[in-house]
Amino acid sequence: MKGTMLYGARDVRYEDRPDPIIVDPTDAIIKLSATCVCGSDLWPYRGIDPTVEPRAMGHEYVGIVEEVGKDVKHIQKGQFVVGSFFASDNTCEICRSGYQTACVQRQPGAPTGAQAQYARIALADGTLVPTPALPDADLVPSLLSASDVFGTGWFAADAAAVGPGKTVAVVGDGGVGLCGVLAAKQMGAERIIVMSRHPERQKLALEFGATDIVSERGDEGVAKIKELTRGLGAHSTIEAVGTQESMMQAIQSTRAGGHVGFVGVLHDVTIQGLPFFFSHVHLHGGPAPVRRYLPQMMELILNGKINPGKVFDLTLPLSEVAEGYRAMDERRAIKTLLQP
Ligand SMILES: [Zn+2]
Repeated sequence: MKGTMLYGARDVRYEDRPDPIIVDPTDAIIKLSATCVCGSDLWPYRGIDPTVEPRAMGHEYVGIVEEVGKDVKHIQKGQFVVGSFFASDNTCEICRSGYQTACVQRQPGAPTGAQAQYARIALADGTLVPTPALPDADLVPSLLSASDVFGTGWFAADAAAVGPGKTVAVVGDGGVGLCGVLAAKQMGAERIIVMSRHPERQKLALEFGATDIVSERGDEGVAKIKELTRGLGAHSTIEAVGTQESMMQAIQSTRAGGHVGFVGVLHDVTIQGLPFFFSHVHLHGGPAPVRRYLPQMMELILNGKINPGKVFDLTLPLSEVAEGYRAMDERRAIKTLLQP
């Protein structure tokens, strides 16, 4: 098969790869219907996370089951499935509490790389959720988004305790931040303030349910959020970047007793004890347990209630994956969908 490898900073190659095979009896092999480039793929792409040896890329996937191992009981050949970026058994105590991304058997979701024609999925019964029937092609982008970007935005909103009547601030206008807006709207948020400087992203944020746009950043951005909330700050803040500046912006934009849901992969973030102590802000986040929310998200998508697949503003054949990375790195695209 063909698949995507990262050899080093900005060195993405689409090349011949071994066909994935069943390794453990709980594995499945899927034929990818669609895949995409993640904002978190940009950390190694930019060399911020060093690449010591070439690695298979891609962890967001939807596809048709080609083959299952002998211990797979529920997932069947021919089903259209959506899975998460971590494989989980969905039966251990941590999974049952809703934290499948911390499953005691946690493994990479697609260890052979999902930016490929085929992928091996571990713990298939726990990881994969099938659709009742083969979905229409126009629903595939939204189902793919549930695999990570929308699932992560949903968890961020949930972790930020978004609910009816709440005012939500969103730090980060990438795919996850925008999906967080859509999730917050679904959860009944009254007001959704998005921090963004990009006209195209502002437009999609408004379409997804944002009520206010703040283009200021840092302390000025915080001041603007305070101004919009009678000096109090937001009840719920979604942090979808992962840098020192964005995390501080999120904490400081949140009112006493409020919640920050942080899902940007934190890189070298230090939180000063004293101001945090006096902030009275709840922090909750980490790798989103997408599997917890998949059934609910997929139902909303299959019923045509929401269309999170709109975050894909660039669609390329998988063979042009390198351009997909470049477009996101240069912020020419919010998110690139790849067609195998
Ligand atoms: Zn588990």
